[in-house]
Amino acid sequence: MDYKKYIKIVDNWPKEGIQFKDITPLMDNGKAFKAAVDEIVEFAREKDIDLVVGPEARGFIIGCPVSYALESGFAPVRKEGKLPREVIKVDYGLEYGENVLTIHKDAVKPGQRVLITDDLLATGGTIEATIKLVEELGGVVVGCAFLIELSYLNGLEKLDGYDVLTLMKY
Ligand code: IMP
Repeated sequence: MDYKKYIKIVDNWPKEGIQFKDITPLMDNGKAFKAAVDEIVEFAREKDIDLVVGPEARGFIIGCPVSYALESGFAPVRKEGKLPREVIKVDYGLEYGENVLTIHKDAVKPGQRVLITDDLLATGGTIEATIKLVEELGGVVVGCAFLIELSYLNGLEKLDGYDVLTLMKY
């Protein structure tokens, strides 16, 4: 499917010089959204996934329907102060800013096979931080799936050795 026709590019948002890729028109189209989720499910199907992990907020939008289809669990990675119980945390750099990400300490059990999902791979900072959290808890990252990859930011270099699926490249 030509998913790109459902992505709206917003110039200079949220900051001057950023070309934001808005995925909401894709989510708004039932057939396109289902096709994208189905492709990620197919990628993950043979990987024997125990758990899908996604960073807030758009990682939830992709990760939850995938985990539902795989009948795996889903664990959220959130900004500091958002999860109610004991967490571990990691600092990371964003395409536009700095951040701290957290995960519940008991969200991933040692040896669990984990798929990480997000809407978009830019510099790779968010996915790298998410991988760190999962691996620190003993999870095994067996795949990373994104709707969009911004190739010019070279985020894939941070994912050397991991099995990665991206449905669109810019
Ligand atoms: P990275 O950490 O630089 O790879 O940035 C990826 C994160 O920033 C993801 O969680 C995305 O949701 C968000 N992000 C960065 N740029 C965009 C964009 O153009 N559209 C949507 N999300 C973006």
